[in-house]
Amino acid sequence: MKFQLGLILLAFAPIAAAQQKLFDNHVHIWEGEKSVKEYLAQADADGLKVTRFGAIHMARLGKLDETRRKNDELIELSKKYPQLMPIPSVHPYDGQAALAELGRLAGRGVTAIKIHPHTQNFDVTDPRVPALCKLAGELGIVVMMDNANIIPGDSEKLFNLAVAVPKTKFLFAHMGALNFRFWNIIPLVRTTKGFWSDNIWFDISAVAYIAADSPIEAELVWTIRNVGVDRVILGSDFPQMSLATALGAFEKLDLTDEEKARIRFENARQLFRQ
Ligand SMILES: [Zn+2]
Repeated sequence: MKFQLGLILLAFAPIAAAQQKLFDNHVHIWEGEKSVKEYLAQADADGLKVTRFGAIHMARLGKLDETRRKNDELIELSKKYPQLMPIPSVHPYDGQAALAELGRLAGRGVTAIKIHPHTQNFDVTDPRVPALCKLAGELGIVVMMDNANIIPGDSEKLFNLAVAVPKTKFLFAHMGALNFRFWNIIPLVRTTKGFWSDNIWFDISAVAYIAADSPIEAELVWTIRNVGVDRVILGSDFPQMSLATALGAFEKLDLTDEEKARIRFENARQLFRQ
């Protein structure tokens, strides 16, 4: 009997271990290693073990040396901290220099970059943006973009960008924030023939925090299932929010254990080829 119980426990052990894995794709590393240490110490103090995290910095327009140095810094940090996945950045308005930097980053094994229409002050409809995103797709690099709807027409512009650059995988952070309802268009466009290439993923940093314990919580869960549970990724947006806070909000959502495990870890692992 004891032996059988042991076998049963063994059989379930991999599932239990998989459920505990955490991939936080949205961690701002503003101050190099100092930020990494602060992030990991905070998670540790909250009793959390981070399996993988996406370390982000934002490139500034015209500061090409600084951009390369900061991108390299993230890549070097990933050697010292095996949990760290570098998410470097370029500025789309740097044109050819941005494209060259993207090629260099691909050569160094980067699988995702972040660009931010609000922080970097660019217009998503500018032709330099799809040009950059197209090359990223060709290089196998996921393009993460802010989607907090701070900018008017944010989700609409991002939707059209994803349509214009169908072979690139996009990850839209915050899933539209309080305008997340917009993305329920996705199950509808999936019914079109030859139009939609289904190339959008989302992180639910901030939006899960806003929606948890609110009148719109059920709508967010409905949206997550509509865009696809396999398309949604956990994120904290550290230092704005701790991983424990983000995770606490996420755990309140009425999703199944299997769905939560995918969002906590597996979806990001697959998208970023980790
Ligand atoms: Zn952020």
